[in-house]
Amino acid sequence: MNKPLKILLLGPQGSGKGTQSKLLEEELHIPAFSMGQLLRDEVTTGSDLGKEIDAVQKAGTLTTDITAAKVLKARLEKSDAQNGYVLDGYPRSFDQAKAFTFDKPTHVVVIEIPKDESMRRLSGRLTCFKCGRVYSTNDGHKADDACECGGKMEVRKDDTKEAIERRLQIYLDETEPLIAHYGSQGLVRRIDGVGAVEDIHLRIVKALEA
Ligand SMILES: [Zn+2]
Repeated sequence: MNKPLKILLLGPQGSGKGTQSKLLEEELHIPAFSMGQLLRDEVTTGSDLGKEIDAVQKAGTLTTDITAAKVLKARLEKSDAQNGYVLDGYPRSFDQAKAFTFDKPTHVVVIEIPKDESMRRLSGRLTCFKCGRVYSTNDGHKADDACECGGKMEVRKDDTKEAIERRLQIYLDETEPLIAHYGSQGLVRRIDGVGAVEDIHLRIVKALEA
């Protein structure tokens, strides 16, 4: 594979982006980033930018695309990202892409799953209130079951049917047009996201070689 590989990993909620980006990180020896984690890390450093992000989040508003891009730019300048990287779920709209001016992806990998599969995976999701571990009703768990840590499993507000449908619609409205834009540049590899985690991983690796 030609280096550096700068991979944007996109797909609807429940498509397994997080899992696949971790697998790519191990396979390709390049770091994987999600914007949520980068912002949390920046807050932890206590930098001026981190304080600004913290204040915005505590006020219950969203970090601007410009601020997010600033954090990303600084992270991509570090030495471990010079042979490439995986961006998990970012940019996911034209507005975010417009702020992402300091680098260009070499590949845009889109993990596709049918809407009902997305709904099934997400609507079965149970989260431990105490430690945040994620379980699924598809594995025989149910709300109020006890987690290993002693906490209780519950359906998060984000994981109600209405909230999931809203997020899937935002993906169609905001992310699909961006994917079409990258497609016109020949960057897009669409991957069937139904099946075993390892099989999907192999599909992605094969698509990156093509
Ligand atoms: Zn727990």
